[in-house]
Amino acid sequence: AAKASGKNKLCFYDPKLDEYAMLRLALLSDFRQSFADGDFVVLYQPQIRFSDNTLIGFEALVRWHHPERGVVSPTDFIHLIEENGMIVQLGEWVLRQACSDAMNWPAPLQVAVNVSPVQIERTNLLTTVIKALKATSLPASRLELELTESSLMCDGDSTIMLLNSLREQGVRIALDDFGTGYSSLSYLQRFPFDKLKVDRSFVIAASENVQNVNSANAESILSAILQLANALHLQTTAEGVETQDVSTLLQKLGFTNAQGFFYGRPMTAEHAENFISQWPDIQNKEN
Ligand code: C2E
Ligand code: MG
Ligand code: MG
Ligand code: MG
Repeated sequence: AAKASGKNKLCFYDPKLDEYAMLRLALLSDFRQSFADGDFVVLYQPQIRFSDNTLIGFEALVRWHHPERGVVSPTDFIHLIEENGMIVQLGEWVLRQACSDAMNWPAPLQVAVNVSPVQIERTNLLTTVIKALKATSLPASRLELELTESSLMCDGDSTIMLLNSLREQGVRIALDDFGTGYSSLSYLQRFPFDKLKVDRSFVIAASENVQNVNSANAESILSAILQLANALHLQTTAEGVETQDVSTLLQKLGFTNAQGFFYGRPMTAEHAENFISQWPDIQNKEN
């Protein structure tokens, strides 16, 4: 990658960088046609409540089945289509698909859908959500929207109004990837969230503590976050729970919910229905 050395940033020629730029361009130019061709799939990853081991629902995670490149991860293309605005169409499609798939699940199972800051800034998300709920007949109480901190930075007051309107409809709001962003703590007080999803990096750090008794830092940070969330009456979800040990630790620390490979990987809608019918017996047999 390009190297920064001291005060003078020296960028060395790096063929890998070119390759990466070409890949980005190629993906970008393929997107529109591929989207029109229906090459996108929504997968669902289970979310579990610690207190009674209840399956509460699934997070919708999009995948691009590229005709030549195979499965492309959202981390490789979401930011590209955010730059040119095509995330708006993809986001609306994911929302519609997720609401429609969730209608096949028994109530009160919920679906959580990721929302891009571009959708918040450039579209009327309230209208989009109301339309999707109406078209699919999914009750608003079974839809959760996941926002990241980057959604909160632009026009705070209008975002607060939007979130309040969504919550008046009965939709719940989660703050995603908490701990990776900016002045996180003030956001918690300022914006009306229902839930805090604590980023996987903290969970990883805590899981290292499980093996390495030396450092209690990660656990201390998690405890502080949980205290704050409790004080603000927010539910808390731990992302990226991969093992029984970590799950036990996070439950002990006081998280409300868990999500991660330990419980289940993102799966097709069909597989999700199967998962629902077999929960909790299916637990851990998956992995
Ligand atoms: P996210 O919303 O934080 O989603 C969680 C990511 O962590 C998912 O990656 C999931 O597969 C992964 N994950 C879950 N459990 C584990 C675990 O135990 N271990 C590990 N190593 N990873 C785990 P994925 O599906 O690749 O999605 C990446 C990101 O792309 C998402 O992060 C989200 O920010 C974004 N994204 C996905 N679908 C959409 C979408 O429809 N719209 C928008 N705007 N963004 C999306
Ligand atoms: Mg998410
Ligand atoms: Mg997340
Ligand atoms: Mg994350």
